[in-house]
Amino acid sequence: MARLKKVLIVGGGTAGWLAACYLAKAVNAVDPQGVQVHLVESPDIGLLGVGEATFPSIRGTLAAIGLDERRFLVGATATYKQGIHYRHWVRPPGTPGADHFFHPFNAPSQRPGGPDLVPYWLLGAAPEGMPFADAVSMQATLVDHSRGPKRFKDADYQGPMNHAFHFDAACFARVLAEHGQEALGVKRHVATVERTELDEQGAIARVVTKELGELTADLYVDCTGLRSMLIGNVMQSPFRSRADVLFANRAVAMQVPYASADAPIPSYTISTAQEAGWIWDIGLQKRRGVGYVYSSNHTTQERAEEVFRGYLGPAANGLKAMHIKFETGYRPEHWRKNCVAVGLAGGFVEPLESTGIALIELATYLLTHLLPSDTDQMEQAARHFNEMMIARYDRIIDFIKMHYCLSQRRDSPFWIDNADPASIPQTLQDKLAQWKHRPPHRLDFVSDLEMFLVCSWQYVLYGMEFKTDLSAMRHAYPRMDDARQEFRNIQLAASQALHDLPDHRALVEKMCREH
Ligand code: FAD
Repeated sequence: MARLKKVLIVGGGTAGWLAACYLAKAVNAVDPQGVQVHLVESPDIGLLGVGEATFPSIRGTLAAIGLDERRFLVGATATYKQGIHYRHWVRPPGTPGADHFFHPFNAPSQRPGGPDLVPYWLLGAAPEGMPFADAVSMQATLVDHSRGPKRFKDADYQGPMNHAFHFDAACFARVLAEHGQEALGVKRHVATVERTELDEQGAIARVVTKELGELTADLYVDCTGLRSMLIGNVMQSPFRSRADVLFANRAVAMQVPYASADAPIPSYTISTAQEAGWIWDIGLQKRRGVGYVYSSNHTTQERAEEVFRGYLGPAANGLKAMHIKFETGYRPEHWRKNCVAVGLAGGFVEPLESTGIALIELATYLLTHLLPSDTDQMEQAARHFNEMMIARYDRIIDFIKMHYCLSQRRDSPFWIDNADPASIPQTLQDKLAQWKHRPPHRLDFVSDLEMFLVCSWQYVLYGMEFKTDLSAMRHAYPRMDDARQEFRNIQLAASQALHDLPDHRALVEKMCREH
């Protein structure tokens, strides 16, 4: 029996530093003399630098590592995110009917003892023509009026509206690095790993760096990003591509200054569908982060940049675009022997719904809680970890694919191919078939580690105008009058909340000023 005493994280991007902070905080809490957490990052190899939108789980993660919210906002130049506004996703612009919808982070309102509003919206109890998200939650109204999700006086990472953040990925990694070293005892090494040596069992014996020579540990965490230096190149854990389901494999991105210093900052990500993918548009404190995610099988790099610059207009004049390659997929064996991948080294799902950092949080959470105290138990922990990660990846891929295959767009080969049933996983097809006759239910999702809860599936499904026909079940919903009143109450509560919650930019600036 050999006690696990030292973990070495290789890579200092979002994955490396989040894993280091979370792990160090957890192991220190149990035994300050216990497991040591070291991180080595290259002074020469940069971060990917995109990854600016997060998921509400980030608040729990930042609170868990004890990072002060104001310090985080200042350091990462962060703003608040309350959902995603989808433009031109339902149908192409210029065709009759709504072409947009909002996916808020707040779940549909449900008063204790009150009716579940979802079936009643389907049965027409909401004011006529009111979109699902606007009817069941006040968040759409609040973001339309540029409101932030919390009041200045609310406690760290708390607030009446569920939310996440937008931030600058490189700045975020720097704040985490400072916090990890100062407050959590992470030991940082600045060096580039040049090679890795294995022991007789095929486990990693040591990594060898250019600047510092050998570094050893009991467990190696591969956070080297798309290079996947340890889990891919050395441990040869195969990559399972899911490019047959999610076609986007390129991005062209830019950092765009605001037109004026007091321009309003949307507290949601804007996702605008295009002929071969979609454009993200994110408001940070001093600039926008914008990028076109597209499929190289459906357009060229030149055409993608032309479409992208067309979207940005004069704001892009004189700015250089960054081109990025990726592929949706993952390594089913994220953890092999004494090497575990966190972040892009293990896999990636194209960035719609911002799951990259959320998957890092999940992997870090699993790693921390499954970490064996003794290296002999590594294999069992690895199997458990891999099983959980595979399930999450597959469910996320289904969720993202749903956005594409429900669209009524057929205006380009990209959208036509996305509607081809051969590209839709059977698991998703089965769900959609059932949801024609009943709305999504909690029972459709079995694990308490689900990333997207039932309400997210409902927001996208009904935002996309999916039809669930409840007419045969109408007798099961006798509370139409109660439901009508609830829908009115939500509108009333929204108009009151407009007075209670501050302007988003004003909130961010005040939080940063009083840091
Ligand atoms: P990286 O940021 O690439 O970091 C790799 C680290 O490894 C660096 O520190 C580097 O120095 C180090 N390294 C590499 N090789 C060596 C070596 N030999 N020796 C020592 N150190 C080494 N996620 C979201 O959650 N939201 C989004 O909106 C989002 N948008 C995205 C858009 C695009 C187009 C793409 C491709 C990804 C996006 N992601 C998003 C995913 C997100 O970017 C990543 O999950 C996140 O940046 C984590 O990256 P990482 O830390 O794994 O890798």
